[in-house]
Amino acid sequence: MEAELQSQVAFHLTGRRPASGLEAVDILALRPALLARYRDLTALRYDFPLVLVDGGADGDRVQALSGLVDRLLQNIARGDDAERVTRHVLRLERQLRALLAEGVEGSLSTLWDMAAERLGVREDESLRDSLGRARVALKIDGALVDCDAALPARLVAHAWRAVQDAKAARFRATVGRLIQKLSDILRADFNRSDAGRSAESLKASIGDLHADLFDFDAMSRLLTKAAPETMLSESRRTRIRALLTVLESQRFYAGTGGAGGGESAYSFVYQTCAGALAAYRERLAQLTAVARAMAVAELEIAGEFRESRHAAFFETYGADGLDPADQALFPDYLVCVNVQQLDAAETFTLSEILSAGLPMKVLLQTDDILEESPGGGGHFGFGLRSRQLAHTAIGLNDVYVLQSASSNLFQFRGHLRNGFAYRGPALFSVFSGATGTTGDLPPYLCAAAAMDSRAFPAFAYDPSAGTDWASRFDLQANPDIGLDWPVRSFAYEDETHQRVAEDLAFTPVDFVACDSRYARHFARVPRAGWAANMIPAGECLARDGMGSLENVPCLLMVGRDETLQKVIVDEKLMREARRCREMWHSLQELGGIHNSHAQRLLAQERKAHDERAQAATDTRVTGPGGAPAAAAPATAAPATAAPPTAPEPDADKPSEEAYIETPRCTSCNECTGINDKMFAYNENKQAYIADVSAGTYAQLVEAAESCQVSIIHPGKPRDPNEPNLPELMRRAAAFQ
Ligand code: SF4
Repeated sequence: MEAELQSQVAFHLTGRRPASGLEAVDILALRPALLARYRDLTALRYDFPLVLVDGGADGDRVQALSGLVDRLLQNIARGDDAERVTRHVLRLERQLRALLAEGVEGSLSTLWDMAAERLGVREDESLRDSLGRARVALKIDGALVDCDAALPARLVAHAWRAVQDAKAARFRATVGRLIQKLSDILRADFNRSDAGRSAESLKASIGDLHADLFDFDAMSRLLTKAAPETMLSESRRTRIRALLTVLESQRFYAGTGGAGGGESAYSFVYQTCAGALAAYRERLAQLTAVARAMAVAELEIAGEFRESRHAAFFETYGADGLDPADQALFPDYLVCVNVQQLDAAETFTLSEILSAGLPMKVLLQTDDILEESPGGGGHFGFGLRSRQLAHTAIGLNDVYVLQSASSNLFQFRGHLRNGFAYRGPALFSVFSGATGTTGDLPPYLCAAAAMDSRAFPAFAYDPSAGTDWASRFDLQANPDIGLDWPVRSFAYEDETHQRVAEDLAFTPVDFVACDSRYARHFARVPRAGWAANMIPAGECLARDGMGSLENVPCLLMVGRDETLQKVIVDEKLMREARRCREMWHSLQELGGIHNSHAQRLLAQERKAHDERAQAATDTRVTGPGGAPAAAAPATAAPATAAPPTAPEPDADKPSEEAYIETPRCTSCNECTGINDKMFAYNENKQAYIADVSAGTYAQLVEAAESCQVSIIHPGKPRDPNEPNLPELMRRAAAFQ
């Protein structure tokens, strides 16, 4: 046994596997224990696949198939056969997932029919009835897409198109109205002119059908005598004609009245930043001319254009860049670029686009975040290039930045919409999960593993959401946001067939363990060699050390045959996991979680509070001037009730007592909504614990989990008989 321990420690320290005792790991045959339950994604109901809905309201343009099916069933599965219909429709939903997993592409309606055929709808009457009813109730259609390498670009382009469609509708309405009104002015002017009142012109305006009924010469003489002279000056007429020419020949949107002038509308979707920037520059003069024409047309139609006042102003209109409101009338450019294509020139152009505030939305797709850092040293990049660009963009202050794994994009669709609605550049950095080195682990799981392990956390930075970080920066999509890593329970049967449940942290070690390129960082320990010195990697990382020279970090993995395996992890990978955690800590601070400035301030406040309390005690004991104080009366009147401040827990130790970091409260009403006797607001409308005995420990924990700034610390339970205490304490641990 001693020799086995030695070889495990040697592997952990050096990453070199000894000739015996430890085995190579076939990464593709094993999965980290917490991922093992997701072997067959087609059997699970989760966010994917998605329906990219054709048409419809902006907010409904992307729908999860499972949600759509649920809504269908609510409508059709009623009465005696509800259970049968539900069962059949859910079978079809699963079949749709299976079709996509096989690589079949198409619209929801096409794949629906294909799936129904596969299920044998022709031969089974009751199945035909169930699916037929669901098919009739299915009112929408659109591409059915899975979480794969193509998803980020498809989804982002679809969301972009929804926003541009709405913009186009508004633009067409506005420009159509302007063209109509300007044309009316010219027509009225012509009708008052000699040419307009000529017999030929009058005849042409009536048409051939009734031409014989009128004496157009007499009518012309009458009108010429009775009608006033034309009121339109030549310069105004010329100006209106010029406005019409500009508006009718604009190419930014198709189908605007007579717009387009025979030429097709511009495309705004690009595969390179350089291409988008060149197009933007080339069209800038035309865009300014259209914006100017729209502004002048409004004045002309209202009869408010004054040559002396406005001509000079409009001469230089947009010379220093258009007003954001004017710019917002026009389509935003969409650039879909893969980080692999970002050479130095393209990276520079992207920075130029973002820093210049150009109206461009850039999807930066990353397929591999475990590439080794170009700087050498064998460090993982953890999406180094996209991370750098996202952080640079945040530093620019007025760029909308979103980072997400593709598995989270459906949940982030609101943020996507906000990014497209934002009047300025936006950068969407997305990890697709399509690494190509994770065997049969689908991109969805790979992407989700990257996000959960903090290797690629999700966040959104919205400059339009407010003026401070608390308003602008959103980290909430990440699981167990207050922890270093999410912790999940894993249950298995041991060799004596007893159920064993363990809480396991899902760390970057788990994520790397899915990638066949890094199998060298792991070594499998045969079951006979399992020993107490093998400590779960998450625990080792939490301890920041092994505790003993003989301890080694290990990972629980599950084989295709569902057997549990233990692999030990080398120190190099553990170091990378710690680096990843430091990066996560920086993000947490930006998100206001465990913020070091706030914690320092809190510690100072506590210290000052302690000193004041001590001084007050000293005064009571010794009396003013050092004289012994008279004993307090046994029945002293209670002090005036004042909202208590947080108790004074040691800054480094979890408090036994529940408390709130009141100065950091954002008054969101979450805790007071759970129990307004236990939680109350002070005079600054910041929450404190008014009466800890007014509720349960479960409510304290629930409030801590609901508090968006993680400032409620539930302490230890007061009632040892409260139900579910072990589970509650496990949840509370994240907030102590
Ligand atoms: S949940 Fe948190 S932020 Fe909201 S009122 Fe309570 S303590 Fe304040």
